[in-house]
Amino acid sequence: MNGKFRYCPYCASSIVEELRFNAVRPVCSACGFVQFHDPKVAVIALVVHRKRVLLIQRAVDPAKGKWSLPGGYMDAGEMPQEALKRELQEEVGLSVKIGELIEIFPMVNDEEERIGIVLAIEGEPSGSPEIPFVADDAQDAGWFCLDEIPSDLAFESTDTLLNNWKSSSPGCSEDVCQEQGVD
Ligand SMILES: [Zn+2]
Repeated sequence: MNGKFRYCPYCASSIVEELRFNAVRPVCSACGFVQFHDPKVAVIALVVHRKRVLLIQRAVDPAKGKWSLPGGYMDAGEMPQEALKRELQEEVGLSVKIGELIEIFPMVNDEEERIGIVLAIEGEPSGSPEIPFVADDAQDAGWFCLDEIPSDLAFESTDTLLNNWKSSSPGCSEDVCQEQGVD
């Protein structure tokens, strides 16, 4: 849940809780301002290249040090595809072709309250899959084939998507796993 105002941001009068628009919401006792809790929206990408999936190791909390799919919060005015392209540029310097929506997950906070949604979308590198740098929310990144997926995954959405990817993927052939790097 977002923080609740204690004083009205417009007129500084005290905020009370009242039934408005079918829910109890913070309402200004003087000017009638109603505080709505907008959902947070994040995008994550299942980027696959030659049977390997792109994972990043998180440099920040939540789940610092664990592995997840690349992505992040959408900015106001962005479309999901634009947000994903921006995040992949910022985190690993990759240009990515965005594909279909795979699934929508609930976003929960530490108290397991639903605070938004996570859009999971397909992607593939549009140029070289080489990762030129790792920055922003990521401290490490790499391409992983089925048998190499790290066990310490950050989020349930990452876990679910990778499990589905595993079961739909034709499998990790030895030639793929034995390759040194990607080209
Ligand atoms: Zn007010």
